[in-house]
Amino acid sequence: MRASEFVLLLNGVQSKGEHKYIACCPAHDDHDPSLSVTDHHDRILVKCWAGCDALSVVNSLGLTLGDLFHEKHDYTPPHAFARAEMSEKSAVKTRIEKAKTYLAIATAALKRGEQITEKEIHYCRKAKAFLQSHGAI
Ligand SMILES: [Zn+2]
Repeated sequence: MRASEFVLLLNGVQSKGEHKYIACCPAHDDHDPSLSVTDHHDRILVKCWAGCDALSVVNSLGLTLGDLFHEKHDYTPPHAFARAEMSEKSAVKTRIEKAKTYLAIATAALKRGEQITEKEIHYCRKAKAFLQSHGAI
C-alpha cells in the first residue's frame, strides 16, 4: 500500500506535503499526532516520535511489516533469517557430534575385538560419509 492508503487507518491525519503525513500513533495513547508516514522508494516509512517501533505500529493496525511495501510481500526481518541459519548450523553441529560419537564407539568395539553387526557397519559408513561431506574428518 501507499502512505495515502495507510493514513486512512489512522486518526488525526494531517498532510505535510506530497506523500508525507503526520497522524496519531496507533501504538500508544497519542493525542498530539506524533507518527510520520512517508512514501520512500518502494515502501512506506513510519516513524513514531514517541519511540514506538514500526512493528508495534503495524501490529496495532492488524498489519504486518510486509504491508508497508508498495507491492505487498512477505517480509521477514533480517534477524529472523540469522536465527534460522543459526539453528540450522547448530543442528548440523549436533549431528556431527552424534556421528563422531557413533564412530568412536564402533571403533572402540572393533579394537576390543567385538563383532559389530551389518547394520552397525552400515551406520558407520553413513556417519563417516556425513562427516566427510561436512569436512569434519
Ligand atoms: Zn507511538
